[in-house]
Amino acid sequence: MTISVLQIEGQYLDLLKDAARKVEPIEACAMLFGEIKDEEIVVKKVVVATNKLHSEKRFEIDPEAVAEALTEAEREGLEFVGLFHSHPAPASPSSLDVEFMRLWGDAIWLILSSKDSRIGAYRMENGKVSEVAIKCVNTKS
Ligand SMILES: [Zn+2]
Repeated sequence: MTISVLQIEGQYLDLLKDAARKVEPIEACAMLFGEIKDEEIVVKKVVVATNKLHSEKRFEIDPEAVAEALTEAEREGLEFVGLFHSHPAPASPSSLDVEFMRLWGDAIWLILSSKDSRIGAYRMENGKVSEVAIKCVNTKS
């Protein structure tokens, strides 16, 4: 399956940026839930999680928190679509991130650079990392 666009509301991006700012320099992390339509993923829910490792170089979400978020999302009819984390490097996957991307299959990796506030979305496709375009929408009006 080819996914070329990640659609996300501006308010969710703000929420993720705030979460990252709060814990800096530790890596922030969150789970993304939503819908997959054709080649587009639409984020409908963001669950900010605690980085269990309290590390500046890696993150891990408590398995219980993951299970809880998955169960709740399922009740709401939403799919797990990706993971967010911040790191003090450019907004592209580190070699460690790439290793974990292999384990997470289809998930989108949304990465925020706490250095320059740039945000990027990536996905592992056929063993290669490809960048996914971010479409930021504003639904406040
Ligand atoms: Zn990273």
